[in-house]
Amino acid sequence: MHLARFPRLHLAHLPTPLEKMERLSRELDAEIWIKRDDCTGMSTGGNKTRKLEFLMAEAVEMGADMVMTQGATQTNHGRQTAAFAAKLGMDCHILLEDRTGYDNANYTGNGNVLLDHLHGATTETFPGGTDMVAEMEKTAEAERANGKKVYVIPGGGSNPTGALGYVNCALELLGQANDRGLVIDRVVHATGSSGTQAGLVAGMAALNAGIPVLGIGTRAPRPKQEQMVYDLACRTAEKLGCPGVVARGDVVANTDYVGEGYGLPTDSGLDAIRMFAELEGILLDPVYSGKGAAGLIDLARKGEFDGQQIVFLHTGGAVGLFGYDFAFGG
Ligand SMILES: *Cc1c(COP(=O)(O)O)cnc(C)c1O
Repeated sequence: MHLARFPRLHLAHLPTPLEKMERLSRELDAEIWIKRDDCTGMSTGGNKTRKLEFLMAEAVEMGADMVMTQGATQTNHGRQTAAFAAKLGMDCHILLEDRTGYDNANYTGNGNVLLDHLHGATTETFPGGTDMVAEMEKTAEAERANGKKVYVIPGGGSNPTGALGYVNCALELLGQANDRGLVIDRVVHATGSSGTQAGLVAGMAALNAGIPVLGIGTRAPRPKQEQMVYDLACRTAEKLGCPGVVARGDVVANTDYVGEGYGLPTDSGLDAIRMFAELEGILLDPVYSGKGAAGLIDLARKGEFDGQQIVFLHTGGAVGLFGYDFAFGG
């Protein structure tokens, strides 16, 4: 595989640091490293930056003057897409689905929503359960009829183009580990729309790294989550020119930490946020990275990682904290 063959905008701050979490490791009696993809840049950073390097390069190639995407009210992907669009001088429109029913002012207007608008994006809100893919197609068609050249990005930036960003992360992480003699036994991270895990799995398989990736679910039940990741990982491997390298067994998701549903904070997720903040000075979020860390912490406490060297991929999301202040009893 040769990533340089794909159009890409080099706007991310890379490589992101790979650091040992000393105090958390001591607390959990396990060796836990963190890959700081919360520090990728573009409106504070997060995992969508790596995907958007490849997606927005396609938008530039097609001569787009408008980019459109969709997600939940506090979508990090929307905020980062808005930042890329600002940088590239494109219009940005984001369709927001109310998946939680929260109607307090910080949830609906602070955090990611505040930043969407600061970057000059327009937003439009839909009730939970709306067919967002169909709505986005309709809206994009209306803009095209107005003469706009619209580049449409799926929710979470999760298609084979976006997943290339996490193939790139697999390459980068393996290089860092090789340089410092760190044998990685497992990578753990929060999984949602599946592009992150699909890219990592396809990349690790293409590199024959033998490093298992564990996705901690934030929305779908396990069979659906794994199928989504597997399908996208296979399509990504095909795009890379190595079809068939991904085995079904390479895709593992643990969905025990979702709680009541997408975007609804859990006690274990909030505890994980407090632990990372107090022990490591690192900010997580209640929708994704907090739930991912809740899985990491619980599995470590159960002895699942005994004798292993684990890398927690921090996918970002801390901007969302300001839309969820109520969850912390504040
Ligand atoms: C989108 C997102 C994820 C999930 O990544 P997917 O590629 O959608 O699976 C995890 N963490 C954060 C902070 C995110 O914004």
